[in-house]
Amino acid sequence: MDITLVQGDITEQRVDAVVNAANSSLMGGGGVDGAIHRAGGGRILQECRRLRDTSHPDGLAAGDAVATTAGEMPATWVIHTVGPVYSASADRSHILASCYRRSLEVAEELNAATVAFPAVSTGVYGWPMDSAADIAVRSVTESSPTLGEVRFVLFDAQAYEAFSRAL
Ligand code: ADP
Repeated sequence: MDITLVQGDITEQRVDAVVNAANSSLMGGGGVDGAIHRAGGGRILQECRRLRDTSHPDGLAAGDAVATTAGEMPATWVIHTVGPVYSASADRSHILASCYRRSLEVAEELNAATVAFPAVSTGVYGWPMDSAADIAVRSVTESSPTLGEVRFVLFDAQAYEAFSRAL
């Protein structure tokens, strides 16, 4: 499996699945979540609503992942995962690691060969970038799924450099 890094916009990636740093309501939000819903169009929200009506009445727990199609984006799937909110007093690293592990499990179920991840939890949820990058890289490396490529898509140079160091 190749692990690659690019600086850019995850909504433009030509991969089988893009991962969304969603919130547990699955009803959209700001940051990468807002960008994915805007780029993919209303179909993603429709499918999220259906998930809430059927399999996920209470929403998606932090650390878990679930898929919808990707609407108008180049990707085929969106894998929604919910990162933990950063806490300096409680170690939630295992939850952040689980986001990557569970997203890759869902990707395998979908037969997705290429998957793009944003830096989950590093925006509104406040996780320090260097620590988030270490956890992300370790979790993906240890998951060793049968995928062709896992691509980290970092929005700015600071995030790109942090992931570069972690790798
Ligand atoms: P969270 O709530 O998990 O912290 P955010 O969406 O607020 O999620 O931020 C997660 C990361 O995604 C941040 O590093 C932010 O800079 C980045 N980001 C925001 N928009 C995009 C985008 N279009 N493509 C890739 N990364 C993005």
